[in-house]
Amino acid sequence: YRAKCMKDGVSIYNDHWGSEAAERVRLAQALRKAIETRSMDVALQPFIAAKSGSITGFEALARWPQQNGDSISPGVFIPLAEEYGFMPLLGGWILRRACEILVEIAPDSMIRVAVNISVLQLIDPDFVPEVFTILEETGLQPERLEVEMTENVFANDVEQIRHVLNQLRARGIRVSIDDFGTGYSSISYLRNFPLDSLKIDRSFVTALKDGGEGLYSSIVALAHGLELSIIVEGVETEEELKAVLRLGGEELQGYYFAKPMLRQELDAWYLIHNETPYKMPRQYPPIRLA
Ligand code: C2E
Ligand code: MG
Ligand code: MG
Ligand code: MG
Repeated sequence: YRAKCMKDGVSIYNDHWGSEAAERVRLAQALRKAIETRSMDVALQPFIAAKSGSITGFEALARWPQQNGDSISPGVFIPLAEEYGFMPLLGGWILRRACEILVEIAPDSMIRVAVNISVLQLIDPDFVPEVFTILEETGLQPERLEVEMTENVFANDVEQIRHVLNQLRARGIRVSIDDFGTGYSSISYLRNFPLDSLKIDRSFVTALKDGGEGLYSSIVALAHGLELSIIVEGVETEEELKAVLRLGGEELQGYYFAKPMLRQELDAWYLIHNETPYKMPRQYPPIRLA
């Protein structure tokens, strides 16, 4: 037997067939309880303008606080919530909380919040009216909200999704494609979809030190050719930052600037960085050989 600590006690599982499935059911039950008791949380991670170093927005990232201090990644609990049908409730709660936090920390500003939206939310007929209600109730201007969706939306009913996005954009809400370059996009979808930005996946940033510059640059060129802006994910080091500043991308996100922050950490961080933009490393002009 192996014993594994869980939020509400100790669960024992053995090597019998089905024990992992049983563990997943337990986790789903704990997640439902956390959603119902409003004990989920939202962390915000800033987007920084490449040109000026100032804050342009934040991405909202779901968090599931555990009593024992462990962390369960949204990469685990979001798919679980999708599988068990919790996503409409959880997703709506995250969206509302993200809008509330932004209004609290930056009431008189055009800084935006980008919220990850699962495809199951997008195809839910209640989604669009719920978004509009949340904007009204929190007082957030629609132009200050962005929805992030991954390329896997293109594997669904594309016409239905286009219709949903058109309704959001008609209100002024922005739309971006997350983890761009890792999924299903085709150029024709990108051309015919109502979009504002592509978020270039972190893997293309990581690859910059191993000859990945050509691929990175061609994604930037593709985005700009389609009149979309680029948000760069996962800038961690000064080396990556320098390469990215040279190769292009309007907004930058990553641990180099800040980790995702919970509500209680945000005020102090925002106060400092809203007043004093990040200082970008100096860009040397390319050396020209005569
Ligand atoms: P994502 O939307 O691509 O979010 C970016 C992830 O990269 C976040 O992980 C963030 O903490 C992490 N990250 C940011 N900067 C850096 C960096 O410099 N280096 C590295 N190594 N990582 C960085 P997180 O919070 O664990 O979220 C993982 C994924 O879970 C998200 O990827 C998103 O797909 C999903 N997710 C998170 N919150 C939500 C949500 O509210 N709704 C939905 N549908 N999905 C969510
Ligand atoms: Mg995202
Ligand atoms: Mg992403
Ligand atoms: Mg990602």
